[in-house]
Amino acid sequence: TTFADTGLSPAALEAVSRLGYESPTPVQERAIPLVLEGRDIIAAAKTGTGKTAAFSLPALDRTGRAARPKHPVVLVVTPTRELANQIAEVCGTIAAGDGRRVTCVVGGVAQGPQEQRLAKGTDVLIATPGRLLDLTGQQAVFLDDVEVLVLDEADRMLDMGFLPSVRRIVAATPESRQTLLFSATIDESVRRQVDALLHDPAVVQI
Ligand code: AMP
Repeated sequence: TTFADTGLSPAALEAVSRLGYESPTPVQERAIPLVLEGRDIIAAAKTGTGKTAAFSLPALDRTGRAARPKHPVVLVVTPTRELANQIAEVCGTIAAGDGRRVTCVVGGVAQGPQEQRLAKGTDVLIATPGRLLDLTGQQAVFLDDVEVLVLDEADRMLDMGFLPSVRRIVAATPESRQTLLFSATIDESVRRQVDALLHDPAVVQI
């Protein structure tokens, strides 16, 4: 299988070249077509499997390049600053040159610059849960235009006690959103806690 077989657009295939990837990893091969079809997915994939591109490439491909929205249309929620920065780098490479603004907001650093950046508008937002809720609480960012919501490392977010925060974030996004959930493992307990966040998800196990 090639990236072209996954259904990505020519512009997204150029992004794949910029990333330096030659052929899709198993999770990319399975997840990308489902995301492009508009399905919600729940994918079992550990760090190192290529999961970041498995959600970033189709999420950015599905959402408009031209609209210049003020509020983010793609939102990625991830448990740690390090993961957020890595995801923002991949999204930045995918969006390079198409005018879309990628913004990363994490805790442990000053909030003012993040507020200023958000005030100018962003297309893609990558965030850790606590800082995102601080910013939504202060109306520094609005989640009412989110079309694709990614919950990354969901099992880790549950372990870290972020479930109430994740629920509040999901509740602030439109019911019509597409939700992509990635988790290193998906057991009964994880399913039970996240099922209500997803609409008829396709399950990707690799
Ligand atoms: P991730 O699982 O998203 O943390 O990705 C793990 C590593 O695999 C990162 O260094 C990526 O740059 C790399 N990677 C992701 N997809 C591919 C691919 N299709 N071909 C080669 N390397 C990849």
